[in-house]
Amino acid sequence: EMGADHLAHKELLWKLSSTYLPNDVGSLQRSLVRHVEYTLARRRYKLDDNTFYQATAHSVRDRLIERWTDTQQYSAKVGAKKVYYLSLEFLIGRSLGNAVSNLGLRGAYAEALRQIGYNLEDIMSEEKEPALGNGGLGRLASCFLDTLATQNYPAWGYGIRYKYGMFEQRILNGQQVEFPDYWLTDGNPWEVERLDVQYPVRLFGHVREFKDQEGNTRYAWQGGEVVMAQAYDTPIPGYGTYNTNNMRLWSSKPSHEFDLASFNAGNYYGAVEAKERCESITSVLYPNDATDEGKRLRLKQQYFFVSATLQDIFRRFKKSVGRTATTKIQDMPKKVAIQLNDTHPAIAIPELMRLLLDVEYLSWEEAWEISRNVFAYTNHTILPEAMEKWSVPMITELLPRHMQIIYEINHRFLLEVQKLWPNDDTRLSAMSIIEESTPKMVRMSNLAVIGSHTVNGVAMIHTKLLKSTLFPDFLLMWPEKFINVTNGVTPRRWLLQANPALSSIYTGMVGPGWVNDLKRLEPIKTMAQDALFRQRWRAAKQTNKNAVVDWLYKTMGIQVNPNALFDMQVKRIHEYKRQLLNVLGIVHRYAEITQATPEQRNQMVPRVCIMAGKAAPGYVMAKNLIMLVCAVSEVVNADAACRDLLKVIFIPNFNVSLAELLIPASDVSQHISTAGLEASGTGNMKFVMNGGLIVGTMDGANIEIAQAIGEHNMFTFGAKASEVAAIRRTMSHHPPKIDPRLQRATQMIRSGVFGKPKDGEYHQLLDAIDPHKDVYLTAQDFPSYLRAMDEADAQFQLEEKWTAKCIESACSMWMFSSDRTIREYAAKIWNVEPLPFRPPKHQN
Ligand code: PLP
Repeated sequence: EMGADHLAHKELLWKLSSTYLPNDVGSLQRSLVRHVEYTLARRRYKLDDNTFYQATAHSVRDRLIERWTDTQQYSAKVGAKKVYYLSLEFLIGRSLGNAVSNLGLRGAYAEALRQIGYNLEDIMSEEKEPALGNGGLGRLASCFLDTLATQNYPAWGYGIRYKYGMFEQRILNGQQVEFPDYWLTDGNPWEVERLDVQYPVRLFGHVREFKDQEGNTRYAWQGGEVVMAQAYDTPIPGYGTYNTNNMRLWSSKPSHEFDLASFNAGNYYGAVEAKERCESITSVLYPNDATDEGKRLRLKQQYFFVSATLQDIFRRFKKSVGRTATTKIQDMPKKVAIQLNDTHPAIAIPELMRLLLDVEYLSWEEAWEISRNVFAYTNHTILPEAMEKWSVPMITELLPRHMQIIYEINHRFLLEVQKLWPNDDTRLSAMSIIEESTPKMVRMSNLAVIGSHTVNGVAMIHTKLLKSTLFPDFLLMWPEKFINVTNGVTPRRWLLQANPALSSIYTGMVGPGWVNDLKRLEPIKTMAQDALFRQRWRAAKQTNKNAVVDWLYKTMGIQVNPNALFDMQVKRIHEYKRQLLNVLGIVHRYAEITQATPEQRNQMVPRVCIMAGKAAPGYVMAKNLIMLVCAVSEVVNADAACRDLLKVIFIPNFNVSLAELLIPASDVSQHISTAGLEASGTGNMKFVMNGGLIVGTMDGANIEIAQAIGEHNMFTFGAKASEVAAIRRTMSHHPPKIDPRLQRATQMIRSGVFGKPKDGEYHQLLDAIDPHKDVYLTAQDFPSYLRAMDEADAQFQLEEKWTAKCIESACSMWMFSSDRTIREYAAKIWNVEPLPFRPPKHQN
C-alpha cells in the first residue's frame, strides 16, 4: 500500500541520491582527501603513492558506481535482451588508467593530484594487476567487455574470482621459478562484495527418480556437498558513454548448512577442514598446458562457476517474466544470450537442461529448444592435445545428474545421426559426445557444438580448419551453424592508454572520434607521403622506445642502444609458437657478428631482441626454452663483439602492464607459429596498431592483417597451412637436408657455447627439430625465416620507406578493433541491440 508518507520518503530518497558527483578539480581533491581520511583512515601522515593510489581508486570507483547502478536499473526496466559472456578467464590489466580514461576524467584527476604533489602516472603504477587469465583467451574476454560497454550493449561478464591468479614468474639462475600471485594483498577497490548475492552449489550426491503429479518421471539431484558461491562485482565503464556494465566473479565459501551438520555431529575439525575444502574451489587459476591435465578440482571449478552463473541469470530472467504477463519461460532465448568462451564453461549446457527439467518441470523437447537457442560457443583451438575431455567416472561421481543428461543428449543426437547416415559407425563414433576409450571420456567440444545454435572460430583460417578437420561431420549436418568472427582488441587500452604519443598524433589529425571508430584513421594513410609527418611519427616511436630503454636500465640494469631495431616476441611460451625458431635465429646472428670483419659489422643493423612469456609449470620443453634464452642472453650481452649490435633480453613476468609498455616500442614483432596452429593471435593486432611491422607465418589473423595492410607491409615466411601435412608425411622417409646455418647454430648450442645444463635440456629442445620428426617445422622453416629477418633488416635501414610502411599499416587496422568483432557477434549470434543509457537532464 502506497501511503502519503511512503511517497514522501521515496521522493526525498530519490532527491538525495539522484545527482552525480561533481568532477571539477576541487571536488576531486575533496573526494581524494575524504577517502584518505574516512575510507583508509589515515590523516596528517606523509602519505606514500600507494595510499594515494587507494584513495584515487576509491574516488574513481564512486563515479563508476553511480553510472553502473543506473545503467543496470535502466536495462532491467526496459527488459532488454542481455548478453552473458561466460569465461573462466578475464585478463583485466590495471583498472585505474582505464577507468579515468573511459570516464573522460584523466586530465582532471591528473591536475587534482598534481596540485597536491602527486603524479597520476606514478599513482597508476602502484596498482597490482589481477592476473586472472593465461593469455590471449582471457585478454580477449576483457577487450570484449570494454567494447560491449563502449557500444552500449546490455552485457555482463561472468567468471571466477581466483584468490591466486596466474603465478608470478621470476628468473633465478637462468630458470623460471613460479611464485604465488596473491593479488588481493592490498584489497581490491574495484570490486563490490555482494553479500546479498549468494547461491548454493551442489557437488557429488545421487539422483532420485519419482513421478510428478501428472505421472511423468522426474529426477532430483540430492545429497552430496553444498558450497556457496559469493558474488563480487566489478563495474566495466564504456568509453565516452554513461553505460557501465558488470563483471560478476564468483568466490566459493562454505554453506551454513554444511557447517552446522558437522558441528552438531561434534566434529569441529572436520567442519574447519570442510570450510578449507570449499574455499579451495576458487583458490587458483590453472595454467594452460601442452596437454589438458584433467584435474578434478578444475572440473569442480567449472561446474561451480556455471551453476552460480546460471542460477543468477535464471533468477534475473524469471524476475522479468514476472514483470510482464506476456513473457513465458519459453521466451528465454529472446531475453538471454549466453556465449561460451571455449569449452571451459560448456557444462552449462546440461546444467541449464537440469534447471529446466528438474526445477521448471518442462518437457525434454521444450527444454532442449530453449537451451539450444540460448547458447553459442566460441572455439579457440584445434590442437588435439588441448581438447577438453572429462572421464565419465569423474563426472558421474561429481555431477551424477549431469552425466545422465549428457547421455540423454547424446542418445537423442545419435538417433538423428543414424537417420541421416544409416549404418555409418565411423561417423557415429566420431560425432558422439562419448569417446569409447578406457575409461570413457566426455568430449566437451562435441557437447558444445551439439548444445549451441552457433559455433564460431576466431580467424578466417581457423574457422576453415575447424570446419574441415575438427567438425566436418557436424558441418554436413548443420552447415549454417559454423561461422567466423575474427578476434579484435580494444583501441582504448591498446592505443589510447598504452600509446599516448601516437594517440595525440591521431587526435591532432582527425579529432578524438577515432577511439571508438578506428576507421577514421584510414585517411591518415596518405600522410605516409609527407616527410614532416613521418618525422613526427618517428619521434612518437622514439618516445616509446626511450621509455623501454629507461625501464630496462632501471629494473634490469641493462643498457641498450635506443636506435637499434627493437624486435619482440612476447607471448606464452609454447612449442607451436616456436620461440625456438627465434632463439636459433638469434644464435645465427650472434655467429655472424663474431665472424664479421669490422667493415661488415658497420653494415649490420643493430638489434635489441626482447622475449617474454610464462611457461606452464609442468611444461618441460617450454621451461627448457626459457633456460636457453637466458643462457644465450648472458653470453651475447657479455661479448664485446656484440656491443651495440645485439642485445638479447628475457623480461620476466609478462603480463598486461608489461605488454602496454613494450608493444608501442616495437619496430618488429614475431608471430611465427607453425601454419595452422595459432587460431588467431591478438598480440599481432596490437603491435601493428602501434606502428610496428610483423615477421610472421601465414597463420591465424596474420593472414587477414596482411590482407588489410598489404602483403608488402609484412615479412612473411614459412610453409603454408595447406602444405604442413604433406611436409610432415615426407620428412620421416626423406628427411630434408639441414641448412648449414642451422647446423652451425645447433652445433654452437650443443657444444656448450651457452653452457651445458646437467640434464641435457638443450639437447631435448634440439632433438625435437631433428629433420625426421620436426613436428613444428622449425628446421623446415628456418631458411625462409632468416630471409624474412634479413629483409626486415634491409627495409629498416631505409628509414623513410620504413616509416611509410608503419603509417600505412597502423592506419589500416580498423577491422581488428574489438568494436567490429562485437558488432558481428551482436548481429550474427546474439541478436541484441545497443541500449544507450542517459542520466536525467538535470544531472549535467
Ligand atoms: N598475454 C598478454 C598479457 C597479452 O597482452 C597478449 C596479447 O597482447 C597475449 C598474451 C596474447 O598474445 P599472442 O596473441 O601473441 O599469443
